[in-house]
Amino acid sequence: MKAAFFKEHGGAEKILYDDYKDPAPGASDVLVGVRACGINHVDLLLLDGRFPPPEGLPHVNGCEVTGTIALVGSAVREFQTGQRVIVFPGLACGRCEFCLRGERTVCLRYGYIGAHRDGGYAALVKAPAENLLPLPEAISFADGAAVPMAMLTSWHALVAQAELRPGQTVLVQAAGSGVGSAAIQIAKLVGARVVTTVGSDDKIEFAKRLGADAVVNYRTQDFVEEVKRWSDKRGVDVVIEHIGGETLERSIYCLTRLGKLVTIGSHDTHWGRMDLRHVYSKNLRILGTNLGSILELRTLLELILAGRLRPVVDRTFPLGEARAALQYVLDRKNKGKVLLIPEGG
Ligand SMILES: [Zn+2]
Repeated sequence: MKAAFFKEHGGAEKILYDDYKDPAPGASDVLVGVRACGINHVDLLLLDGRFPPPEGLPHVNGCEVTGTIALVGSAVREFQTGQRVIVFPGLACGRCEFCLRGERTVCLRYGYIGAHRDGGYAALVKAPAENLLPLPEAISFADGAAVPMAMLTSWHALVAQAELRPGQTVLVQAAGSGVGSAAIQIAKLVGARVVTTVGSDDKIEFAKRLGADAVVNYRTQDFVEEVKRWSDKRGVDVVIEHIGGETLERSIYCLTRLGKLVTIGSHDTHWGRMDLRHVYSKNLRILGTNLGSILELRTLLELILAGRLRPVVDRTFPLGEARAALQYVLDRKNKGKVLLIPEGG
């Protein structure tokens, strides 16, 4: 099959587009003919070696896949070839202490399709049948591919981890990112008020259209000061943060007492300092989150069908232009998700 893969770590120029070994499905797996695959920040970490693929190189990125079933394993009963599906990327053992507690995203043997095994920058991807959900006809392959990691992570962060409530206030970092564009909509759906940040003025209108009540350009304005001003010096109840470093450190200053910061990624750096006096004296809570559940993914599909959430797709690139697509994301030009579409997809 054709795939976009890499044999060495580095920048977008390391992505090759060529023939690649076909995936070999087991009895309880399916092969999905990829119709769209979302690009995520974790793809860049895998590529540049900050998060080297656990199974080694060469590696095919791609955690967010929609497509049609090309082949079903001999033990799979609930799916047929040709069926439209969306792939839940999380892999869990089902047997460890945390799986038995129902917390599969912190499974001791946790992994992602696209990270811990080859993913969807390819004509075909292998997935356990238990990771599939039917993709309703009314949701396009492209829209669907914006959901299983970016939107799901934002949902889990706001709804499950931060337990966001109507009337609360939220700071969403980086409205232009996949998680940011989803988090704004989800927070508004819950009934919260949202302030968000952008890195260029051309993204201000974009963020407002998603429902943001206030938008701060962090390159020209001090976002801590602006959030304080917006909230009448009170600070916000929740921050959704995925940048790390100074952004994390300063996000803490935006929280009001009993506030919660949910960290869902580390786009700039894996490290972040914090002034502990703010954390303990205000009874703040710093929460981590990792993806969400397949049940939450099903909930998101229902909300999209009902028109209450909208996947935000900025641009699609042919899979053969994966290099250019990754560079586009690296240059932070995107407003929402960037997708790869295999030939004939
Ligand atoms: Zn487990």
